[in-house]
Amino acid sequence: MPDRYLDILRRYWGFDSFRPLQEVIIRSVGEGNDTLALMPTGGGKSITFQVPALATEGLCLVVTPLIALMKDQVENLKRNGIKAAAIHSGLTYREIKVAFDNAIFGGTKFLYVSPERLATDLFLEKLPHLKINLLAVDEAHCISQWGYDFRPSYLKIAAVRELIPDVPVLALTATATPTVVDDIMEQLHFKKKNVFKKSFARPNLAYVVRPTESKEEQLLRILNSVAGSAIVYVRSRKKTREYASLLQQHQISAEHFHAGLTYASKEEKQNRWKHNQTRVMVATNAFGMGIDKPDVRLVVHMDAPDSLEAYFQEAGRAGRDNKKAYAVLLWSDNDKLKLKKQVETAFPEPETIKNVYDALGNFFQLPVGAGFQMVYDFDIGKFCSAFNFSILTVYNSLKILQRAGYLTFTEELDIPSKAMFLVKGNDLYKFQVANEDLDPFIKILLRNYTGLFTEYASINEADLAKKSGTTIETVYAGLSKLGKMGIIHYIPRRKTPLISYTQSREELRFIRLPKEVYEERKQKYLDQTEAVIDYASSINICRSRFLLNYFGQTKSDNCGICDICISRKQTGLDDTTFKKIELTVKEKLSRRMMKAEELVELLPYNREKTLKVLQWLEDHEVIGETETGELEWL
Ligand code: ADP
Ligand code: MG
Repeated sequence: MPDRYLDILRRYWGFDSFRPLQEVIIRSVGEGNDTLALMPTGGGKSITFQVPALATEGLCLVVTPLIALMKDQVENLKRNGIKAAAIHSGLTYREIKVAFDNAIFGGTKFLYVSPERLATDLFLEKLPHLKINLLAVDEAHCISQWGYDFRPSYLKIAAVRELIPDVPVLALTATATPTVVDDIMEQLHFKKKNVFKKSFARPNLAYVVRPTESKEEQLLRILNSVAGSAIVYVRSRKKTREYASLLQQHQISAEHFHAGLTYASKEEKQNRWKHNQTRVMVATNAFGMGIDKPDVRLVVHMDAPDSLEAYFQEAGRAGRDNKKAYAVLLWSDNDKLKLKKQVETAFPEPETIKNVYDALGNFFQLPVGAGFQMVYDFDIGKFCSAFNFSILTVYNSLKILQRAGYLTFTEELDIPSKAMFLVKGNDLYKFQVANEDLDPFIKILLRNYTGLFTEYASINEADLAKKSGTTIETVYAGLSKLGKMGIIHYIPRRKTPLISYTQSREELRFIRLPKEVYEERKQKYLDQTEAVIDYASSINICRSRFLLNYFGQTKSDNCGICDICISRKQTGLDDTTFKKIELTVKEKLSRRMMKAEELVELLPYNREKTLKVLQWLEDHEVIGETETGELEWL
């Protein structure tokens, strides 16, 4: 590897060396090859596009789906003295124009773009003027119909590629199933297939499935026996609160987290947990993406995840520091039923979906044949009560209608706070004198944002809090008060769901839900659910091997630390001996059933050891005993 890559790594990041796979990926990209990098979360994917882009003239265009992640990365780069900017739907038009101008004239090295911006007129107008050296696609599985987390807006990347045909693409993902991998390369028009894949084995992470009918008790027991930072995943917002207070009642430091909290409160909770002021975060799956805490010792799932892809990502947040950590799934008989029911919920009957579509048109008072490219604020609660649908039915129907190309449903468009002064000059001054307590808030606004008297500016409360040495909540309260008193117009950060029609309203009888949008996806969902059930119910395959096998890594060893491996070890036999005896037992019993005594006689091994293996195999339902006392291989 040319030293300039290493120089860049040392100069900007201060790291001594590349991690093994980073080097190869960087070299591949540096040579101008389309490249797919497959590494587990925390593996260090960002460096693989940042370093080669810095080594070349021009700008790296980065497509990434989450605005919060985008901001993190931009801030990290800036902190290292690298010019970076982000373009997403939460910015004002003026802010976006400034970002583009800087990208064209101002030496921006990294321009992060959220996928839905790629098709905008402004982007297409500016694109030819950008000197792009690399197109990096983060969370690239989002482009695949088969990927967990598919986002239709990702398909726009292909069109952008055609406009800059000579620029290489680097696709990054932690999702590794072979179908997704192939699909990503196809969707992104790779000139040649080219994948680099890091093993997904996590040798320091002990996977455990704990069958139990009293999950709360188990949770307390586990938290009392594994020390250190922890995440507890649950499926509902309500449960995040309930379990957090349960833990507090038992003197375990905990708080709760879900997508519905205010931005400020999420930031503060996250920070307390990150700095070990809170030990346990009880959260929905909204927590974790982009969080890089190395010393998480334990991830507990109170409820079964939807897929093993999701489980692997969430569980994988434990033990990033390579020290021993645990990923525990609590599993009850009821979970199996719940998972099966979830499939029905996620895929309402086609008739229902069509009715939702029709009702939606009526709700927006949209005549058939009209509405192309119209965008509406969508109040799902109001819609449900007007037409007597359940929220889940509507939510899931919208997702399917989106895939069928009728509309797009944006759940969480993260729009930053905005503010503008309503009072100026002498009146403002008089107010400042009369309200000393609010004066500091006016001052920080004036100091940090220009043009506030004529135009709305995006306000970053976290930033203001840092600059003025207070908390986000204080800033928020101060601004709200100024708003109520009519001094500023303050629009706090919000998340608005939007619906936009990608084609004009269609007549009910012409609505089609193609196979690949409905049936095939439903089947895929079923398969994923089955895999979770298999994983949780399996009592004789090493957990780590089970997962790796699922991700297409067929050659792997027993991990030696999961619950299954531990139970095997309790036989007192080493792995090789155990395996050898097990194989011979399988060979003999596959031919015919026989009594244990006869089998032991037949096998060329120590009698006591053989009996131990037989006992384990029977306990773990690998072999069974018939009513006549004969053993059979199940
Ligand atoms: P991913 O995107 O694969 O989840 P990130 O790019 O966010 O991973 O990197 C995870 C962490 O690893 C970051 O804290 C990053 O600074 C660190 N890291 C990446 N490469 C190296 C390296 N060569 N040496 C030391 N730390 C690294
Ligand atoms: Mg990443």
